[in-house]
Amino acid sequence: MASWDRNTIILLDLVKQPENARCADCGAPVIFTSKLDPDWASYKLGVFVCLNCSGTHRDLTDVSRVKSIRLDNWEDDLVEFMRRNGNAVAKAQYEKSVPAFYYRPQQHDCVVLRDQWIRAKYARQEFTGKNGHLQKAYSSAGFCDGTLWKKGKNKRQFQKRRFVLSQDDFTLRYFIKEDSKVAKAIISVRNMNAVFQPEKVGHQNGLQITYMTEDRTRNLFVYHENGQEIVNWFNAVRAVRYAYLRKALAPANDSELMPLLTTRSLKEGYMEKTGPMQWEPFKRRWFVLCSVDRKLLYFKTPMELEQRDWIKAFQQVIAQPLLPQHYSIEANMKRKKS
Ligand SMILES: [Zn+2]
Repeated sequence: MASWDRNTIILLDLVKQPENARCADCGAPVIFTSKLDPDWASYKLGVFVCLNCSGTHRDLTDVSRVKSIRLDNWEDDLVEFMRRNGNAVAKAQYEKSVPAFYYRPQQHDCVVLRDQWIRAKYARQEFTGKNGHLQKAYSSAGFCDGTLWKKGKNKRQFQKRRFVLSQDDFTLRYFIKEDSKVAKAIISVRNMNAVFQPEKVGHQNGLQITYMTEDRTRNLFVYHENGQEIVNWFNAVRAVRYAYLRKALAPANDSELMPLLTTRSLKEGYMEKTGPMQWEPFKRRWFVLCSVDRKLLYFKTPMELEQRDWIKAFQQVIAQPLLPQHYSIEANMKRKKS
C-alpha cells in the first residue's frame, strides 16, 4: 500500500471524529455525501473545514495552507500534525475569548460574515486572549462612530452618512454631513434588528437595519466597502442590543438573550393579501416573517411563494415560547389600541 493511501485512511478516520466531522469555522459537514466532492483540511492550523471556508483559508497564505484529504498527497509529518491538533484543539486556542454577543457564522450565512470570522480568528487572532484591543472596535467602548453608505429614501442611490452607535443611551444616530451637529435620525436599539442582505441591498457587504418608530417598521440599507468594517458594525449593534436587553430583561441569562440580539427573518417572499375590507381584491405583497418580535410584516414588492416553506416557518414561530419581552410588546400594542 502506498504511503499516501495509508495517510488518507488515517485522515478519513480523523475526520469521522465528531469535532472534526463539522467545519471548524461554520459547522457545515466536512465530508459531503457525494464521493466526488473533495473535503478539506488546513495543515498549518490543524483544522478540518468545508469547501466554502477552504476558499478563505486559501487566501490567508501566511497563516493557513489547505489540502484536499482525498485528492492531495499528505506527508507523514502533516498527518501527525492533524492528529495532534484537530478542530477541538484549534477551537480552544482560536476561540478562547469570543465575546458572548459576537456572531459566529453558520453554513448558510453570507460570504462576508464567514470570510471575516475566519480572518478575525486566524489572521488577526482577535479571540486568542492576546489581542483584546482589536475587540474595542465593536465592544468595550460601547461606542461606534464612522461612515457608511446609506440608500436614500426616494432616490435609489447610496450616500455617505456618518453613523454613531452609543451604549450610553442605546441609540443609533446618523448625520447628513461629517460635521453636522443635529442628527437626521435618532433610533432606539430597543426593537432594532440587523441582518446581512447582499442581494436586497445590491452590495456584497449590504446590511439591513430594521427598527420601529411609534407606528411603523422602518429600514435602513447600508454597506461599507470594507468587509471588516461592516462586520464590526454588525457586531457593535449586537453588543449594544446585548447591553440593552441585559438591563431590560434582567435576570435573563445569555442563552435566552442570544437569539434576541439580531435575527435572520425566518422567511421572506410574496403572498397574496386582501383586506382590511372584505370586498378588497387580492394584492401581491412581499411578506417577512420575523422571529424577533413574532411579527409578520408585508411590503409592496412582487415575488414567488413556496407555500409549504411558509407553513413550516409559521409553525416554527408559533412553537417558540413567549419571552417576557413579547408580553410587554403585546401589552403596549393593546394599550395603544384602547
Ligand atoms: Zn465552513
